[in-house]
Amino acid sequence: MAATPSPSTDPKILEVKDRLVSTYRDQRPRGESERIAAAFDLAAVAHEGQVRATGEPYITHPIEVALICLDLRMDDDSIVAAVLHDVLEDTPVQPEQIKKQFGPQVLDLIEGVTKLQKDVIPNASRQAAARAERNRAAESLRKMLLAMAQDVRVMIIKLADRLHNMRTIDALPPEKGLRIASETMDIYAPLAARLGIWQLKWQLEDLSFKVLHPKEFRDISDAVSKSRKDREAELKEATDILRNRLHAKGITNVQVVGRPKHLFSIFNKVVKQSIPFEQIYDLIALRVIVEENFECYLALGYVHDLWLPMQGLFSDYISAPKPNGYQSLHTKVIGPHGDPIEVQIRTRKMHEIAEFGVAAHWAYKEGSGENRGGEPMGQLRRQLFDWSSDSLSSSDFLRAVSTDLFSEQVFVFTPKGDVLDLPKNSTPVDFAFRVHSELGLITTGDKVNGVMVPLSAKLKNGDVVELITRRDATPSIDWLEFAKSQHARSKLRVYFRKLNKADNSQRGREAVERELNRLGLDGRRLTGDDAVKEVLSDFPQVDNVADLFARVGEGLTTVQNLANKLRGRVKDEAREELRVNESRAATVISAGHDNVMYKRAKCCQPLPGEDIIGYVSRGRGILMHRRVCPDAQNLMEREPERVTAIEWEPDGSIHDTNLLVVTLNRQGLLAEISAILGELKVNVSALKVKTTPEGRAEIQMSVEVQDQRHLQQVMNQVGQLSDVMSILRTFGKGSRR
Ligand code: MN
Repeated sequence: MAATPSPSTDPKILEVKDRLVSTYRDQRPRGESERIAAAFDLAAVAHEGQVRATGEPYITHPIEVALICLDLRMDDDSIVAAVLHDVLEDTPVQPEQIKKQFGPQVLDLIEGVTKLQKDVIPNASRQAAARAERNRAAESLRKMLLAMAQDVRVMIIKLADRLHNMRTIDALPPEKGLRIASETMDIYAPLAARLGIWQLKWQLEDLSFKVLHPKEFRDISDAVSKSRKDREAELKEATDILRNRLHAKGITNVQVVGRPKHLFSIFNKVVKQSIPFEQIYDLIALRVIVEENFECYLALGYVHDLWLPMQGLFSDYISAPKPNGYQSLHTKVIGPHGDPIEVQIRTRKMHEIAEFGVAAHWAYKEGSGENRGGEPMGQLRRQLFDWSSDSLSSSDFLRAVSTDLFSEQVFVFTPKGDVLDLPKNSTPVDFAFRVHSELGLITTGDKVNGVMVPLSAKLKNGDVVELITRRDATPSIDWLEFAKSQHARSKLRVYFRKLNKADNSQRGREAVERELNRLGLDGRRLTGDDAVKEVLSDFPQVDNVADLFARVGEGLTTVQNLANKLRGRVKDEAREELRVNESRAATVISAGHDNVMYKRAKCCQPLPGEDIIGYVSRGRGILMHRRVCPDAQNLMEREPERVTAIEWEPDGSIHDTNLLVVTLNRQGLLAEISAILGELKVNVSALKVKTTPEGRAEIQMSVEVQDQRHLQQVMNQVGQLSDVMSILRTFGKGSRR
C-alpha cells in the first residue's frame, strides 16, 4: 500500500470528500476546512482498495462517522479523529505520523477508539458461548466506562461509529447482524441515553429493534405511518391553535412543532405496559421551544388553559432535572378533537442539551479556538457514573447488560484521575490498600470528593478519593469491621498477627470499649475483667480474658461479636432492674391506666417499636422515655420509684420525629427526598434548608411516622440517595441519641 499520500482521482471518492468538506464549511464557515481535507486525504490513501460489506469503498464509513459527529457539533479534533478512527487498526499508518500532522490530542482520541474496538469485541467463536457473552458484556461495559472517564469524546465517536455500522447492518450475515444489534441494544443505546444524547439513543434503538424483532418493527411502523396520515390534520390544527395563542399572549419567539415518536418506545409500551397499539399511536406529540425559562411555565399555563390537562400526567424536569441533565416540562392534555396530546415545553438551550447531551459540552463554538476549556470534569464524571440516582434507567441498564459482575463493583478515582475498581461497598481503607499496601498501613483519614469522611464510608461510583497519611501512623483493628476487599483484610490480619500478644490484647480491649461506647453503653465497665468473665464461656478457643482480647486484637474474633455478647449481659441486668421498679410502681399504672396522659419525652422522642420506660411525673401524666436515653437512665438511678415498665400499644397514630439530612447542595435533591417521603406516606410538618459556603445543604425537617420501622425506612431510602452524606435523628434540648 502506498506510503506517500496521493489524493485519489476516483470520482466516487472525490464525491465523498466533497460531501465532508462542504458540510463542514456550511456549519463552520470560519473553521479550518484544510485540516479536515488533509485528514480525508490521509484516510483515503490508507484505506485505498478496502471495501465495506456493502460493496462501497471503505472510506465511506469513517466519513459517515465524521458527519454524525459534525451533526452532534463535536469539536474539530473529534471530527479529524472520526475521519481517521480506523487507520491505526486496519492500515499501515503509524501513530507518529498522526501526531505530527494533527497533534497529540487527535492521536489520543484515535488510540482510545482503537482500544475500545480491540478489547470490546474479542473473537467470540473461541469461547464458550453463554458465559463468554456475559463476561464480554461486563468487560466491554467496564472498558467503555474507563474510556469515558479519560475523555468522553472517545465514547461519542465510538457511538457514532456504531450508529453507522447499524445503518449498514443489512450487508452483514444475519448471525453477525443479530449479535451486533443485541450488543447495541444492551450496551450502546443505554450508554447514549446515559450521556443524554437522545439523537443517538433513539436511532440506535430503532435500528437494533428492526434487526431483533423484524415482524413487530414492520407492524408498528406500518400502523404508525397509517395513523400519522389520519392524524396529520389534527396535529396541524393543534399546532396552529397553540402557536396563535402563544403569539397573542406575547410569546413570539417560539417554535411549536409536531414530534415523531420513535418506534422502539412504542414497542416498549405495548410490551411492558400491555397498552393496545391504537391507544399509543393515536397520541399526538407536540414540542414547544421558547427562549427563556419563565416562558416555559407561562406556555404551560396557556396549554392548560386551552386544553384540559389529564390528571397526574405532569412532570417538571426543569426544577428537578434528570441525572443526565435533561430538562423540560411534560404534560398531557385532551386536544381539540378529544384525543390526548403529549406536550413537551423547553428552552432552546434545554433542547440542545436534550438532543446532544454530553456532546453539547463539546459543541463547537464559532470563533473560539479552544473549546474544551473549563469543562467541570469532576461533575461530568459524577454524572456518568451516578447510576444510583436514576433508579429506573440504571436498573434497566443493569438488567440489559445482565451481569452481576458489574453490579458487584464500584469505580472510583484517584486525585490524578486514575480509575480503580473495587468490590461494592468498599471503603477508603480498601482504596488505600488497593493503591499500595504500605499506603493502607499509614492512612489516617481521607477526603471523598473534597470532603472529609470517615474511613468506614461506603464509596460510590465516580467518587474521587484522596488519602491522608502519616509516616508513623498504624492501622486500627476496627478497620476489619468494615474493610470489604479480601486484599485489604488479609493485609490487616497479617499486620495484627505480627504484633505481640500483649499489644494485641490491649488493642482488642480498646476497640471493644470504643464499640460499646458508640452503642451508648459504659464501655470501660463492660470491658472490665469481671464483666468479660461472664461471657468467656461463649468463646471456647480461649480460657482467660487477656487471650480473648488478644484474639480480637489479631482480627480472629470480631469486635462486633464480643461487643454484642457483652451488650446482651447489660440487657439482662437492665431487665432485672426494671422488674424491681415495676413492682414498686405497679399501683400507679394499674390505678390510672385509662386516664393517665402519656407524653413522649422531648429529649428522645420515642417511637413505637423502641424500648421505652415510663416516668410518672408530678401532675403531667406519664412521660415516655427511650430506655437508652440518658435522662431515663438518670431517672432510673435517682427516682426508681417513679419509673415504671410500659409498652407500646399499637393505635395507628403518627408521631413527630426530627431529622437532619446533610447533603451536597445539588438542584433537584430536595425533590427526590420529597418523592421518597411521598411514597412512604410520610407527612412533613416542618422543613428548613440551610446551605453552607462549602457547597453543602443541611435540611432540618420534622416528619410524622408510624413507628420505628417506618422511620428506618425513611432513613434508609433517603440515606441511599446520591449526594446525601448523612441522615440523623435529632432531638430537642440539643441532645442526640
Ligand atoms: Mn469504524
